[in-house]
Amino acid sequence: MTTKIYDKGMVIVGAGEAGTRAAIELRNQGWGGLITLIGEENMIPYERPPLSKNTLLSEDEPSPNYIAVKKTFLEYDINFVSNYKVTEINRDNKTVILDNADEIPYERLLLATGARPRKLPSEISNNSRLMYLRTFSDSLSLRNKLVTGKHVVVIGGGFIGLEVATSAIKRGCTVTVIEVGPRILMRGVPEEVAKIIEERHINAGVQFKYGQAITNIETEKVNHVINLADGSKVVCDEVIVGIGAVPETSLAESSGLDVDNGISVNEKLETSDPNIYAIGDCCSFPHRYYGGDRIRLEAWRNAQDQGTHVARNMLGASEPYVTIPWFWSDQYDQTLYVAGLSGYGKNVVCRDLGDSGKIFFHLSDDNEIVAASGVGTKVAKDIRTAELFIEKRVKVNPNDLTNADIKLKKLLTVNVD
Ligand code: FAD
Repeated sequence: MTTKIYDKGMVIVGAGEAGTRAAIELRNQGWGGLITLIGEENMIPYERPPLSKNTLLSEDEPSPNYIAVKKTFLEYDINFVSNYKVTEINRDNKTVILDNADEIPYERLLLATGARPRKLPSEISNNSRLMYLRTFSDSLSLRNKLVTGKHVVVIGGGFIGLEVATSAIKRGCTVTVIEVGPRILMRGVPEEVAKIIEERHINAGVQFKYGQAITNIETEKVNHVINLADGSKVVCDEVIVGIGAVPETSLAESSGLDVDNGISVNEKLETSDPNIYAIGDCCSFPHRYYGGDRIRLEAWRNAQDQGTHVARNMLGASEPYVTIPWFWSDQYDQTLYVAGLSGYGKNVVCRDLGDSGKIFFHLSDDNEIVAASGVGTKVAKDIRTAELFIEKRVKVNPNDLTNADIKLKKLLTVNVD
């Protein structure tokens, strides 16, 4: 086997949202040397959010929403290596090794390896007919299975599971969601918001089974039989599992980098090796707005923002990443937005916008807004304003927040003590 010789430069492992944005930004920031972007998928980089939404609903054969196309790589002079997996990092020689044994030297290395779906334990089932959703090809397979009249079971009442439930209902399927917890959206969404979303699903015909552990799934010729802990069974045509994602940390672990619920980075997104950075779903980082607590986000905007942010630090800047966490999810005609981390604000007040939706503000003990969750058809603008509140640490009078006649922006300038 011949081994290619590469020049030293910026090397990025993972050609998803975060890695691709970083590659482009390195050039925007004036880096004149080599940029190599390596992705194991045999695809040009694409967006994942449509995979549980438009891709499943497309009448015509769907195509991916590309983040960058071949022309972009030419224009930005990015060496895009697709369909190869990085299997090893040699930190002493400062190289990464591909699964074809090519060795690529790096000046600075960026890990943007994302996450993979959490699998059901094998004692429950390891049947390959159970579906998971992370890649474009997963979404195409799932789309083919969402056929009118089929009974689809979604295991897990998180964002992706509920978006799949929405798409399945829209495609004429009967849908049951089985959730082991006491309610949907246990992670990061307050009960009040989860209730509104649940109601919308129930109106659309979705059935929920809560607090039910699955003992095992028997897959027969056509059907699946899901056996639940209370002895009941659910028989269905298709099973889609959405029980969360696991950060892809194997490369970091095998090369001795610190890992703590993701590849552990500091505020500058630098790993325990100062020549290696990590961003996006695969990394955990301390957030100064939340007492320096280490968090890991699985969110599209975070992947983008960290991508552009890290490029500056890889080129010598030393800027902390302090962007407010932000997430959205589309379900039927409603969009859910979450800005900030709701778990940090125990006092919750609601701003009722009538037909347009509801916003829930999460306040600290001294009335600073630490998070806001909004659900409805027109809540985006207020959530954007809420981000400014969180950023500026403005103290508010909770009664003012509940009064929808008072413009939120007005309260930004009033600091209540
Ligand atoms: P990824 O996009 O996962 O990219 C990582 C890439 O690295 C992958 O292509 C992987 O194959 C590659 N890779 C890993 N290891 C190696 C290796 N050793 N060698 C080479 N390549 C490697 N977020 C929202 O805010 N709102 C939404 O509505 C929303 N919807 C979503 C719907 C779905 C179905 C999914 C899956 C995600 C959704 N997200 C949403 C989350 C968002 O898409 C992710 O947070 C974002 O894609 C993370 O980007 P990333 O670059 O960190 O990881």
